Amino acid sequence: MENTMTDLTYPSASLFIGGRWISPELRSSQPIICPANGLEIGQIANATPEDLEYAVISAASAFASWRSVSPVERSAILRRFAELLRRHEEEIAGWITRDEGKPRGEALAEVRSSADHVDWHAEEGRRIYGRTIPARQEGVRQYVVREPVGVCLAITPWNFPLSQAVRKVAAALAAGCTVILKGPSDAPSGVIAIGRYLQEAGLPDGCLNLVWGAAGLISSTLVAHPDVRKVSFTGSVGVGKILAELAGRHMKRTTMELGGHAPVLIFDDTNVQAAAAALTRFKLRNAGQVCISPTRFFVQHGARDRFLDALSSEFSKVNVGPGSDPASEMGPLCHERRVGEMERLIGDAEQRGANIVSGGKRIERDGYFFSPTIVWTESDEIALMHEEPFGPIAVVSTFNDLEDGLSRANALPFGLASYVFTTSLARAERASAELAAGMVSINHFGLALPETPFSGIHDSGHGVEGGSETFDGYLNTKFVSQRAWPDI
Ligand code: NAP
Repeated sequence: MENTMTDLTYPSASLFIGGRWISPELRSSQPIICPANGLEIGQIANATPEDLEYAVISAASAFASWRSVSPVERSAILRRFAELLRRHEEEIAGWITRDEGKPRGEALAEVRSSADHVDWHAEEGRRIYGRTIPARQEGVRQYVVREPVGVCLAITPWNFPLSQAVRKVAAALAAGCTVILKGPSDAPSGVIAIGRYLQEAGLPDGCLNLVWGAAGLISSTLVAHPDVRKVSFTGSVGVGKILAELAGRHMKRTTMELGGHAPVLIFDDTNVQAAAAALTRFKLRNAGQVCISPTRFFVQHGARDRFLDALSSEFSKVNVGPGSDPASEMGPLCHERRVGEMERLIGDAEQRGANIVSGGKRIERDGYFFSPTIVWTESDEIALMHEEPFGPIAVVSTFNDLEDGLSRANALPFGLASYVFTTSLARAERASAELAAGMVSINHFGLALPETPFSGIHDSGHGVEGGSETFDGYLNTKFVSQRAWPDI
């Protein structure tokens, strides 16, 4: 039997404030549901207003000393943390499969890539340099220093519950900031792992605090708090705009990693079979609940039938089942709400005359499963063409030439990831220059590595995570001009 309350090693989703764990039994709490079977697997503690105030006091007082800890020492703590993630990878991956639903292999890959992100931040954090600027006057020395902004509020989503949070925490801590992290209620275990193993790695009390509960209360309290200096959010465009507005009202710095609706341009010169196989794996990773998942598939006219046949054949081979079953290649959606969203989008597509090429239905079994789905349309009117599905649905349409493809790809207000498949260097270069997106990947999927910048433009947000830009959002730039005082 699978995923019952009794066979779990699932961690307690406690608050973690000032180095102290406060379990759900000591607060009001809400259930955590396993998406593979709909059963409760634990409870998550709701922070009280007093807990939130205590979290700010803890983070602010820890900042007073953490900011002066040498980068070498901060780096050593982060490296120990990365090692602990690796040592406990099986356990953490098991938790993520239980609460988020993704197949075990994908969960393991998430833990490993999170450890890589931590290592990279540990190393790069030792290279946060200032600079000197030649002065106009003799006896004047001018220099620039980079200082940590202070207490940061991080809010993260459920789709990569560990790695989305790790990027923010590692960047903030390496830069000398302290953090209050509000993770996803639907899948809290990855964030609990961060608290547990950073504490074991020797992070001083108060440098990281975990709060859970009513998201609106947490954000309105903490964004407005004068001791919180920065808000870093990953999640939906709608919530991002609410938080950006609130942050603007209180003049807080922000990093916004928001949703996308990634276009793929598949030109008729490409190996359509190979592109369909690669796109299937990438599209159905985490059941399509990935912000950089390819979602709008634009195929050049001449390749349409070949591509649709190949994609349908690849989709039909994907084995859907609980993430804990080694045979499963795609797991459930993270919660019941997402299944309802898929049904709404398919209903709208059908009503507006789109063709459901395959799938299109909830899979009748316990849990929140939806079949891998291909929708064919020539209309930009269906909701799927302008709303991010965040699920296992590929919408396929055609384009005539490069101009037409670029104009359809750039038609939405989002600008996160985009993809191109072509053998033509000229087309690839033109597309990479003209696609309105923070990231372009050509003939493969090469995004989200620790050493490469990850960011969106327009409605997909602002600010960068990863790459050498990763610390920019966590540092103030201070200019000092110093003149030698004349001897008496
Ligand atoms: P979401 O509903 O925006 O939630 C994300 C986080 O925000 C969760 O911790 C959630 O808390 C919290 N939240 C919800 N309402 C809030 C409010 N009023 N104030 C403060 N926090 C609030 O997004 P999601 O459904 O979890 O994630 C899916 C979306 O995230 C998609 O649009 C996806 O494209 C985007 N995403 C973007 C990136 C990127 O890097 N660009 C990466 C991953 C996902 P609760 O869990 O308690 O509701």
